[in-house]
Amino acid sequence: MAGGDVIIGLEVHVQLNRLRSKLFCGCSTDYHASDPNTHTCPVCLGLPGTLPVMNRRAVEYAIRVALALNCEIQGETLFYRKNYYYPDLPKAFQITQYDFPLGMGGSILIKGEDGEEKKIRITRVHMEEDPGRLVHAGTIDRAKYSMVDYNRCGMALLEVVTEPDLRSPKEARSFLDKLRNILEYLDVFDGGLEGAMRIDSNISLVGGERAEVKNISSHKGVEKALAYEITRQRSARRRGVAQVQETRHYDELRAITVSIRTKEEAHDYRYFPEPDLVPMRIADWVPEVEAELPELPDAKRERFVAEYGIADDHARSLTSEIRVANFYEVVAKRAPSRLAAAWIADVLKGELNYRDITIDKFSPDHMVEILSMLEGGKITEKGAVEVIRTILDHSGDLSEVTPTRVVEAKGLARAGNDAVKAAVRAAVEESAQAVADYRAGNEKAINFIVGVVMKKTRGRADPGEANRLVKETLDEI
Ligand code: ADP
Ligand code: MG
Ligand code: ZN
Repeated sequence: MAGGDVIIGLEVHVQLNRLRSKLFCGCSTDYHASDPNTHTCPVCLGLPGTLPVMNRRAVEYAIRVALALNCEIQGETLFYRKNYYYPDLPKAFQITQYDFPLGMGGSILIKGEDGEEKKIRITRVHMEEDPGRLVHAGTIDRAKYSMVDYNRCGMALLEVVTEPDLRSPKEARSFLDKLRNILEYLDVFDGGLEGAMRIDSNISLVGGERAEVKNISSHKGVEKALAYEITRQRSARRRGVAQVQETRHYDELRAITVSIRTKEEAHDYRYFPEPDLVPMRIADWVPEVEAELPELPDAKRERFVAEYGIADDHARSLTSEIRVANFYEVVAKRAPSRLAAAWIADVLKGELNYRDITIDKFSPDHMVEILSMLEGGKITEKGAVEVIRTILDHSGDLSEVTPTRVVEAKGLARAGNDAVKAAVRAAVEESAQAVADYRAGNEKAINFIVGVVMKKTRGRADPGEANRLVKETLDEI
């Protein structure tokens, strides 16, 4: 889907959902497990006469993010009212930022289409309040009625806007994954919560007008919508139909985008400075927040390569999630670091993805135990994978499924040398046809005999070792 003609820029709404209270009131942010409209108060319901009070921690978090995205922090920052009417916005205006956003001129490194490190510029990072949430009775176009839940109303949001530096849907996806990764490192964001990140994607073909696909919450959805847009815009261009600047909606079920409005109908929000909030001098806060920034993914990746002697690809994979990175460090301190990197990045992560679960479901102690059994030749690689799967698929108490117990219960202990040799001898004796084929010059016939050995040892022989022994035996006789 690459090609030199594609231009993409993203506007990403990020909920600072690790905050305990909302942006301008004391209401809880913990609405995901709550009934609708149980976390509201006169302030976030926008009742007349109420006043917003700035959540200091939210500003700190916002500065933290802006710094981590390499932005310049404005000395003084200011809030505005963005006026529009919508049922999920009870004040009929949103408090947001406009011409003095908190941070400007940042960047994020991603792995570009060509595999090289690529810098994506960040135009701005600003703070605003989240509106409530509409819940439609049925699909958005068929619903007889819609309900509104104000629990989300007044949650602290950041808007992160990129320059049009992305060149393919895949790069857009890499950008979003990296952004999420950084936000989770900063401990301001939990990407696992519904609606935590919502993305507007702007896309055009060189020389054409752009379409803005609004409000997609999954990274995969963004990638798909953009791929669809490229095909649609290219085909329109071939037919001589000019793209107009417009807003589109992504219909996830049909996997297409549909036009909502063109720029002619663009809203005039009548921005003006929010009179109930004073401008904030944030310059003085920056040094303290900066001093407390944690190690970020790029730095951690470099350190992993230097400190543990692992491949860059493994380091990239291990640091792409803070929880995996922490898990790896615990294991690597007590096991061979390269073996640990390979088994966590290549095997464990794959098994977790397949089951759509996080690494919290696996214990570093168990990983250390498995690696030690592998190293000591007590289990084969196949056996180790089996142990990992058994533990992941176990639903009860994890202490019941220690690797040692799994190996015992499932008979996964690697067959001893004598047992493998005996199995090889028996397999050669039983496989007259394959032996004849091998002698006639068919090297592949050996695989059949190895298969018999594996069957006889119930998969507990190391296949490479079995292969070597079979060959040795055949060449002896
Ligand atoms: P608006 O105020 O209309 O939303 P902005 O200039 O703020 O427009 O840009 C919004 C987003 O559109 C940014 O993410 C920017 O990178 C992106 N963008 C700008 N020009 C293009 C383009 N030609 N093609 C695709 N995206 C673009
Ligand atoms: Mg826009
Ligand atoms: Zn409230």
